[in-house]
Amino acid sequence: MKDKAEQARRRLIDRLRREIDDLGVVEAMERVRRELFVAPSLAHLAYDDAPLPIGEGQTISQPYIVAVMVSALELRRTDSVLEVGTGSGYQTAIIAELARRVVTVERIGTLAESAADRLKALGYANVEVHRAECALGWSSEGPYNGIIVAAGAPVLPRGLMQDLAPGGRLIVPVGSRHAQELMKVTRTADSFSIKTLGPCRFVPLVGEQAWPEETSE
Ligand code: SAH
Repeated sequence: MKDKAEQARRRLIDRLRREIDDLGVVEAMERVRRELFVAPSLAHLAYDDAPLPIGEGQTISQPYIVAVMVSALELRRTDSVLEVGTGSGYQTAIIAELARRVVTVERIGTLAESAADRLKALGYANVEVHRAECALGWSSEGPYNGIIVAAGAPVLPRGLMQDLAPGGRLIVPVGSRHAQELMKVTRTADSFSIKTLGPCRFVPLVGEQAWPEETSE
């Protein structure tokens, strides 16, 4: 069993090495053990390239899309990053490996708490987990060099764009409740440049400025 999991881990990392240009991101993903971010009963699936349930109707993101999104952030060691949607804290840990500090915000209390405990136990001293609903912005500790949203927004979140430092990058899935386009917004000296990075599928960003919570599921 252990060998099988290790083989799956190697396969995933080899694929990321082939397909992701930013080697620093791949190496950070090699250091962060994804099995520590899911329930023990799902640990044997931790290196499948797929999202997995983490409770409360939410999912840990697919490793490949984490690699694409974190690469698009173009992180430097000195960067301050805001993450919206902590979930399990898996992506938070990868960003914490690459940036100076990560402020991460999660609206579901139980997820925020267990992610905070996990990240602390793993020794990430440069992470702050906040339990809050963030859709428009989180400027209290900004501006940020990078902002990454791990849930699908109905429109480009203008407030988050305003939280970018000059040269800062915002990575956010934008589209319908069930399918989105990954967008990259870069703040230039006097405006913003906007690029699309391809289709993706995230759980909805919930809140007044985003999607209402789905109660029937
Ligand atoms: N990257 C995470 C996946 C998170 S799933 C991981 O690897 O585990 C997206 C998370 O965003 C969910 O936990 C959901 O509760 C949270 N979320 C949705 N809308 C939010 C909002 N407005 N503010 C903060 N968190 C939100």
